Amino acid sequence: MGIDYRAELNSAQYEAVTTIDGPLLIIAGAGSGKTRVITYRIAYMLDSHIPQKAILALTFTNKAAREMWERVRTLTGKKLTNLTVGTFHSFGAQILREHIHLLGYRPTFSIYDTQDQKALLKQCIQEVGLNPDLANISTIRNTISAIKTGRAVWNAENEVYRAVYEEYHAHLRAYHAVDFDDLIVLPIRLFETHPEVIASYRERFRYILIDEFQDTSILQYHFIKLLAEEHRNLCVVGDDDQSIYSWRGANYENFALFERDFPERKEVKLEQNYRSVQTILEAANQLISHNTNRKEKRLWSGRPGKTAIYLTFPSDEREESEYIAETIRTVVLKERIPYHEIGVLVRTNSLMTPIEDAFLRHNIPYKLSGGTSFFERKEIKDIIAYLRVILNPDDDVSLLRIINTPRRGIGRQTLHMLGEYATEHELSIYSALTSLLYAQGLPPQVARTFDEFVSLIEEFGERISRRTSIAETVRDLVDRIDYFEYLMQEHRDNEKVARYRYQNLMLFADLIERWENDPDNLNPNLGAYLTRISLITKDELDEEDTKGKVNLMTIHAAKGLEFAHVFLAGVEDGIIPHARALEESEANMEEERRLFYVAITRAREALYLTSCRQRRVMREDQEQTPSPFLEELPDHLIETKAPPSDLTEEDVEDIFARMKSRFGS
Ligand code: ATP
Ligand code: MG
Repeated sequence: MGIDYRAELNSAQYEAVTTIDGPLLIIAGAGSGKTRVITYRIAYMLDSHIPQKAILALTFTNKAAREMWERVRTLTGKKLTNLTVGTFHSFGAQILREHIHLLGYRPTFSIYDTQDQKALLKQCIQEVGLNPDLANISTIRNTISAIKTGRAVWNAENEVYRAVYEEYHAHLRAYHAVDFDDLIVLPIRLFETHPEVIASYRERFRYILIDEFQDTSILQYHFIKLLAEEHRNLCVVGDDDQSIYSWRGANYENFALFERDFPERKEVKLEQNYRSVQTILEAANQLISHNTNRKEKRLWSGRPGKTAIYLTFPSDEREESEYIAETIRTVVLKERIPYHEIGVLVRTNSLMTPIEDAFLRHNIPYKLSGGTSFFERKEIKDIIAYLRVILNPDDDVSLLRIINTPRRGIGRQTLHMLGEYATEHELSIYSALTSLLYAQGLPPQVARTFDEFVSLIEEFGERISRRTSIAETVRDLVDRIDYFEYLMQEHRDNEKVARYRYQNLMLFADLIERWENDPDNLNPNLGAYLTRISLITKDELDEEDTKGKVNLMTIHAAKGLEFAHVFLAGVEDGIIPHARALEESEANMEEERRLFYVAITRAREALYLTSCRQRRVMREDQEQTPSPFLEELPDHLIETKAPPSDLTEEDVEDIFARMKSRFGS
């Protein structure tokens, strides 16, 4: 059965879907079917006999990429063995796995996450002898990233970090490791220095589609442009009102660049919102119209709605989370909304804890995205570090993490000696270890320990190269290093914790197994797996099943998603807008408003806003004022609900009066 494109798309969408040659720009508001257009467009291309191999679709999160892939598969009923759908970072990593040797790295390179990066930076700071007062790791990390991605240049102020910057990169290179920025920076370098490489990619990917274009960085834009400028079959889709990553270098002026670089483009506007009921959409439109720096859009919804926005003022975060949990219970029971159709959104991670507490008390199943990722737990990171060393023994950061975990009795002094030797001979620590062993100049006890360690790494390295199951290898490794025993010792006073952490490792092995045995996975090797988990960011703990669970997440993580009912907690001044934004500029204020807009537009049927009168911040009870954005929502669309406690009508008026006197109106 073919797809009836005319019936399933409105006329603007149809035009966008069927215009496949030449550059195409789709700027449209929330819920207008942008992502739907991308999926149908891919299906349409396949129907027009464009091979899967020639299509590249990039989006912002792994979750979104997977969903897109899934939707194309359902839509077409085809097996998608050759279609590339991914994120910028996953696509960059894929390019590097294939060609990084041309830049002098080994294809088994490691990808460092924030934790690894910080560990390495600490070391570099010491090595260059930077004044400890200046050595704020996060500042240094941000500076390095800004310079690398072209968002900043060296100047009098950041010059002090130049030595660390250089040291850091020298180390990355020596370790055959790359950081996240490198996943875009290095492919660009590769394209620019190896014409045959860019030529092969241009020839292969003749059709390129980009979702969430408003959040691409200038560097990512440059990357796409390199790929597309010859064949020019580039379709970009985005909404300037939903640009929420400028702090990470997103640059929605990319729309202007695209217009400049692809002057022959066609443009399609989508103006009908299919997601939200009229009330919610009207509130969102009103809110966003307060931003000055935007393209004017008129969004309308064909879905009439009764009051769908509820605002309450709980006395504190405990009452707030009680209210959220109780309302969810009611909605699920009375309106038969499944749990996974409910989203609870927060501006910052710290707001999640009381809500999780309430969910546990009320037995509400939930899934959290945006908190600490499963893959960042210590026990998981330890085993990942083993796997990285097995694959790439020159990865010093990972090696130092595991050389004494579990304890092998390698003392500080021995490690120091090893480090010195490695530096002196320009070797990685692992090579230093093997060459010292070979030279036989070590005290017997140390030699034995080193020897055991090297044999372990080599033995498992062989197993991996023989392509035995990775999951099996992980289970054996955990056994072999007696990690359970180590956990029991670490948690002598609480065995339960040790068992729990061991269980996590077993779950880790199961996740690998599932991945390895997935028939759609054409290349289940260790390198591919390590790449994959390095790319799972906090925003998307995507390994868990979401069916039957409430989604508790940050607004950033909720981008592109939709839920029948949406709760937004902590609608307070200093939270949204975030205190940091208030201090700074109008531009930041507009970004906070866009975040609020993204949150509101996730809802299909109903939206619940809660604004606490008091909140515990850093162990102190603090008086809270409602978010000034509440003032920008039209009064008549909002039902101020009787809150769960004893707040009277007068109290509510009083709260609004206070807010008005503070922000004017
Ligand atoms: P966002 O800005 O949040 O990313 P979007 O513009 O990508 O939103 P989609 O997620 O593609 O919008 O669509 C929103 C909802 O509207 C989806 O449930 C989608 O299936 C539905 N939808 C879009 N267009 C149509 C249509 N022509 N007919 C029926 N449903 C539609
Ligand atoms: Mg979308």
